[in-house]
Amino acid sequence: MDCPICTNKISNACVGTCMHHFCYPCLLQWISRSSIKDKKIPDCPVCRKPIYEIRFDREFDIVLHGDEFPTFKHPYEIEIKMQKCSKAGLTVKNNIGPGVEIINVNETGLFYKAGFRKGHVILFINNIPCNNHKSTIDIINYNQSSKTPLIISTLTKI
Ligand SMILES: [Zn+2]
Ligand SMILES: [Zn+2]
Repeated sequence: MDCPICTNKISNACVGTCMHHFCYPCLLQWISRSSIKDKKIPDCPVCRKPIYEIRFDREFDIVLHGDEFPTFKHPYEIEIKMQKCSKAGLTVKNNIGPGVEIINVNETGLFYKAGFRKGHVILFINNIPCNNHKSTIDIINYNQSSKTPLIISTLTKI
């Protein structure tokens, strides 16, 4: 099955809210272009329905490419190691499209040190889609208490 954006065989398959399939890097580029430029909900390039969230479809990759298909790597990924007593220092709100938008970053927190600033969009944490500000903070808090690193995937390069 071909990607409607790049017209190549889909790899790193993902689906938007409407369940159309794309390569994840292609959809990411499409979304970052439309939501940053126009500040509106990005729409599906095929059916024009709004895209509120993105999910990966690993089964789709396996069907198209076989079991050997490598595990996906996000183009814009940052690892944050949670240290003892360190604060994330982050306030987020639900984004107009997929992900959550950062509305405040504390200058003494880990996220600021990693390069995050107001206006940046977080799409996934540890491959879990972030579409709700409260559940995003819950994931961060959980990782903090268990001292496991956060793998943050963003909409644009940070
Ligand atoms: Zn593509
Ligand atoms: Zn669609």
